Amino acid sequence: MTTTRRAFLGQAAVAAAVTVPVFGAPAVAADGFDPRPGSDGVGDPLFPTLGNGGYQVVHYDLTFDFTPVTYDFTAVVRMNAQATQDLSAFNLDTDGHTIDAVTVNGRTAPFALSLGKSGQELTVTPAAPLHKGTPFTVAVTYRGNGKAPRAGLSGWKFGADGGFASAVQSSRADTFLPCNDTPSDKATWTFHLSAPEGYVAAANGELTGKDRRADGSTVWHFALRERMPTELLGIAVVKGTYLYGTSRTGLPLRHVVPQGEEDTYAPIVARTPDHLAWLEAKFGRYPFSVYGLHIYGGYTDALENSTLTLMGTNWFKLNADGNPTYENTMVHELTHQWFGDCVTPHDWQQAWLNEGPAVYYAALYSEERGWSRMADKMKATYGKLDAIRASDGPPGLPRGLGGTNIYDGGALVLYALQLQVGQRKFDRIMGQWPRRFKDRTVTSEDFIGHAVDVTGDRSLDPFLRDWLFGAVNPPMPGHPDWTATA
Ligand SMILES: [Zn+2]
Repeated sequence: MTTTRRAFLGQAAVAAAVTVPVFGAPAVAADGFDPRPGSDGVGDPLFPTLGNGGYQVVHYDLTFDFTPVTYDFTAVVRMNAQATQDLSAFNLDTDGHTIDAVTVNGRTAPFALSLGKSGQELTVTPAAPLHKGTPFTVAVTYRGNGKAPRAGLSGWKFGADGGFASAVQSSRADTFLPCNDTPSDKATWTFHLSAPEGYVAAANGELTGKDRRADGSTVWHFALRERMPTELLGIAVVKGTYLYGTSRTGLPLRHVVPQGEEDTYAPIVARTPDHLAWLEAKFGRYPFSVYGLHIYGGYTDALENSTLTLMGTNWFKLNADGNPTYENTMVHELTHQWFGDCVTPHDWQQAWLNEGPAVYYAALYSEERGWSRMADKMKATYGKLDAIRASDGPPGLPRGLGGTNIYDGGALVLYALQLQVGQRKFDRIMGQWPRRFKDRTVTSEDFIGHAVDVTGDRSLDPFLRDWLFGAVNPPMPGHPDWTATA
């Protein structure tokens, strides 16, 4: 994401803990089988009930039948998962849905809704307990309305066209589907989105087919073959037009722009191959099988949804000097496809690993275009970061999301690293990161270890630790004159 408007937790409600049956709990079986409820959170420092314990999702298949203007929808999510403990019950994160039916391994399963800290918890009790390590399937049939009240914030963004786009980072995928809403659980996805005449559907991944129905609506099928966390869910039903292209390496590009404004946006999205080439020279091949921008009037921010960056129409103005500096934001979100989407923070306290590189490389792009100077930006950040460390936490230990500490502060950590090790070694650290940790979830500790491994320089361990976790800025290499009040 680009600015500070992230989906924060709503007012913390009283958490309803998963009910542990006191009576009738089976004794541990002779084979060690000891089914217990999975936890209602995975222990994210910033979002304690985000995600759920006891299983990992392998694949989500989402059928979503949305009616524009009324915002009603009916849906089915089918989940392939694997138990990571013996499970008597498990939770999904959800918010604002009417749950009609749940099955586990094809058998009807009792379920209950309770209030969690960032939405609701859907507790499912399989007819037969699940053994650790075994795959299982879950299907949830549900319905709702895009504008229905939620326990927490909503991830729905509405345009004047009566449609919607999803912007769910960091904790609101559960306003679209019951899911394991933590970045630490990445899965592959398929989507089946219906759109009436005059509307198009969009989703992460490749468009694999369309089926026209008797009522004139069309079901659009998409597949994302790479693993994606729920926070990067990018689905939409809008009055839009698909624009197609190809990168210089043959990557298919597909963009969705507002209907009737194709002439405005075609030259803008046509900048994407240059941006891709610029970043691929640094990080290697783009890590997904398709890319594009969804430009939508119902959104005012920019968000790196996997393979389909969402940007508001408000971005695309020339600056006071007549320069298209919105390209910096396009580069910011595209950088995230490597840093955040392909390599994903294990929990939200690691968010600087997303935003630091995105801010850094957007600033570098801006400098190379002659629009601004990296050193000026970094000196200004250095000047104010000590106060921000005190109020919001240092870049590697933020007390919340959306702050300068993880955005410009994260970029400042990278800038310091670059000055410390030199350009060549810095380029190797950053270029090998997405290759080494492709498809995985990572922590600051992984990054520190990676920098030491790539350079063979053990002094980078305390160096990065001071920058990431310290109460005050360390001296900036090469700039002893920089001060916290500069
Ligand atoms: Zn960002």
